[in-house]
Amino acid sequence: MTKPAQPLKNRHAAVTGGGRGIGAAIAESLASQGANLTLLGRKAEALETVAAHLRATYDVQVCIKAADIGDEPQVKTAFAQCMDQQGPVDILVNNAGIALSAPFMKSDAAFWKKILDVDLMGAVFAAQAVLPGMQKANWGRIVNIASTAGLTGMAYIAAYCAAKHAMVGFTRSLAIELAKTGVTVNAVCPGYTDTDIVTQSLDTITAKTGRSRDEALAQLLAHNPQGRLVQPSEVGGTVAWLCSDAANSVTGQSIVLAGGELMP
Ligand code: NAP
Repeated sequence: MTKPAQPLKNRHAAVTGGGRGIGAAIAESLASQGANLTLLGRKAEALETVAAHLRATYDVQVCIKAADIGDEPQVKTAFAQCMDQQGPVDILVNNAGIALSAPFMKSDAAFWKKILDVDLMGAVFAAQAVLPGMQKANWGRIVNIASTAGLTGMAYIAAYCAAKHAMVGFTRSLAIELAKTGVTVNAVCPGYTDTDIVTQSLDTITAKTGRSRDEALAQLLAHNPQGRLVQPSEVGGTVAWLCSDAANSVTGQSIVLAGGELMP
């Protein structure tokens, strides 16, 4: 049997929020192409479960780092340690995120800060930690997992929407700043994707409206022409493509994975 191609062999990819959901699917997609990985998140046990699966399945090196992505000193330490262990990071996927919802007038400064720290500043801290190595190598990939909420407004998630819009702006600006360096910077903007975040949204809708689970799901999917949740593996595949040589000239883009829901 011919071995599958491993175009990312010897690349070191760091995925934040790699312990479950979209981050775990991205890690799997990159590992299947031969990349060694660092998985970062708050829960070491979840990270180790994914790491053990990837090591056993794809014969790649995987190290885990438990850190709060919104805490700059923790992020600096985690990246310094993972680069000591596995060399400079070639691919950074800023995926860790929280999607808290609240009516605008009930979202105080602490609520806004919590979301902006994790969903925006975490990506900034991580990019600053890995960019010197990418620039030295004249090659790098930064992929920011934003959201359709980074490109359009939605009720009850003003802080999340603001953070994701900021991530898209950060992506565009950094892409231009780095355009001559061999480092590309892109965003992927999924619509509702089949992970814990959507499970929590369904719980909130059923609790607040008394609707059934199916009705709540239909409400979330009402604007998606394909009428289905995005699969985490589809986000993983898109990230892997952005990391390939075929995407050398793709930078500053926000790629929407949402069944035709948005056509920016
Ligand atoms: P998820 O299943 O809830 O996973 C979130 C991940 O982020 C977890 O691995 C979590 O790890 C990590 N994380 C959260 N807070 C963190 C912190 N302070 N420090 C470090 N890691 C942290 O959600 P998901 O659906 O996979 O979401 C992944 C990304 O996709 C997020 O940025 C989200 O906004 C975006 N997205 C999701 C959807 C969707 O419908 N699911 C749609 C569009 C965009 P720990 O709990 O171990 O820290």
